[in-house]
Amino acid sequence: SKSHSTPRQQLGPRLVKEALFTYVRPEPTEDPELLCVSPRALRDLGLKEEEAQTEEFKQVLSGNKILTWNEEENKEGGGIYPWAQCYGGYQFGQWAGQLGDGRAISLFETTNEKTGTRYEIQLKGAGRTPYSRFADGKAVLRSSIREFVVSEYLNALGIPTTRALALTLCRGSKVLRERAEPGAIVTRFAQSWIRFGTFDLPRSRGDRKLLRTLADYTAEHVYGGWDKLPSKLPVGDPKAMHNKTTTGLAKDTVEGEALEEENRYTRLYRAIARANARTVAKWQAYGFMNGVLNTDNTSIFGLSIDFGPFAFLDTFDPTYTPNHDDHMLRYSYRNQPTIIWWNLVRLGEALGELMGAGSNVDDTTFISSGVKEEEADELVKRAEGIIERCGEEYKAVFLAHYKELMTARLGLTSQKESDFEELFSELLDFLEAYGLDFHHAFRKLSYFKVGELESEQSRKDVAGRFFRFDEAPKQDAESRARIAKWLEKWVARVKQDNPNDEERQAAMLAVNPKFVPRSWVLDELIDRVEKKGDRDILPAIMKLNLDPFAESWGWNESEEERFCGDVPKYKGMMQCSCSS
Ligand code: AMP
Ligand code: MG
Ligand code: MG
Repeated sequence: SKSHSTPRQQLGPRLVKEALFTYVRPEPTEDPELLCVSPRALRDLGLKEEEAQTEEFKQVLSGNKILTWNEEENKEGGGIYPWAQCYGGYQFGQWAGQLGDGRAISLFETTNEKTGTRYEIQLKGAGRTPYSRFADGKAVLRSSIREFVVSEYLNALGIPTTRALALTLCRGSKVLRERAEPGAIVTRFAQSWIRFGTFDLPRSRGDRKLLRTLADYTAEHVYGGWDKLPSKLPVGDPKAMHNKTTTGLAKDTVEGEALEEENRYTRLYRAIARANARTVAKWQAYGFMNGVLNTDNTSIFGLSIDFGPFAFLDTFDPTYTPNHDDHMLRYSYRNQPTIIWWNLVRLGEALGELMGAGSNVDDTTFISSGVKEEEADELVKRAEGIIERCGEEYKAVFLAHYKELMTARLGLTSQKESDFEELFSELLDFLEAYGLDFHHAFRKLSYFKVGELESEQSRKDVAGRFFRFDEAPKQDAESRARIAKWLEKWVARVKQDNPNDEERQAAMLAVNPKFVPRSWVLDELIDRVEKKGDRDILPAIMKLNLDPFAESWGWNESEEERFCGDVPKYKGMMQCSCSS
């Protein structure tokens, strides 16, 4: 559905009803400078490097030229006019009303002909939209650098995410925050920018027609068709039910009753729950925190989305939240799986009538008349049971995938029931107890050879390597002994699983990154680009960022080692209060 406004810039806060987007034009940018383009993004969009070097490319990315619309030719319509999406959201657990793309404007969709993947290209920070409320529609350079880098990093790790094609500095004007700052535009793209909040909004307004249109659109155009969704759960064979799904992950089984009243909207809901379960499992396994997991920042396609005060763990502290304003630790590391489920329950409520209607949802009278209020309560009640059981599926998919990832990170090719307690939990417990670096632990482990861990003494010696370089000499016998004990269990499991050092090391190095764009790295990067005018550092860091499992990058060995090394003192676990 589109809004009925004419394709002209609309300023000021505006409630947009019966529509999920508004046509809006980016503001012109004076004197744009293309700071960095992601080669990986170019490739994934099916573009050539030369195409990114033209003047036209820069003008499109700064919002100065609309490729798909020409004022003269398109007076009568035709062509594609840029648009901003309308959505709402629960922020910190509270309904926040209409939000929408306040500073993001989509330009067009494009399909990579080789892969068949379709993307929506969007400019962030290109000016006001009807959803800007009282803000300026701009983005500052520092937060744009952070979003640009982390989008491409998560993708390099294989974590579903919105992407970043380019970072453009707007040299012609400053952006006013606590101080005047340089502004920037991130050109980003995603298979879908639809959020849970996109469903929350029509639900809050009782707009059933729009909800159904949105759900149908999501299934048909984002998930590629109803036939691509998890198949109906077989009734009466609860144990087997999740082995029968079409999503490729056969290992997660769920106890409980099958969903007899399941219809296609329940299948859509399950697909969304499963996609998000897998993504949050990856965040947990790789120590990533979004920092503001509001429903408007949770993707219908299970993408990592909206990068504000995000961070990676430095030391392992499950109570850590990167969001300076998150006093309740709502968006802390350990809460992420629960919060995504909380968001999924809100989505389930939005889809409640459609899910609860069972096979009646296809009834033509149901479709044409919507639902009567008294019937609606009944449908929502039935949906509650469905949502609850989908919660079991969410948990099972999350756990299965988390275990799969941790198993690989520890160099194992098989899973054992006891691994969870004895290997995963105990590793995380001692990392937490001794304030050890989460990422370094996995990378360092990848270099160990079975032969190095045969004797008690050698295990104690090796245990010292888990500590920071400057702290290694001072740790006590007790901590070394505890780590050595864990190493003994690990090496026993490794030997039983696959005693070939070379094979295991290669497999581990391919899943345990050497480079992580931690907060201190991003801070230094921002400082060098913004204050020192360094134009080489961002492309250099992007080499590490796009290839984080490599050993070296042929840029500058001591700089590479420093950016991958111990976190500088007092720069660990930083927090961000993003007025960005
Ligand atoms: P976020 O905290 O990034 O999820 O943003 C919440 C809402 O505020 C979204 O609707 C954003 O589009 C909007 N927003 C944030 N910053 C700006 C800005 N500088 N100009 C306009 N809208 C903004
Ligand atoms: Mg947001
Ligand atoms: Mg944001």
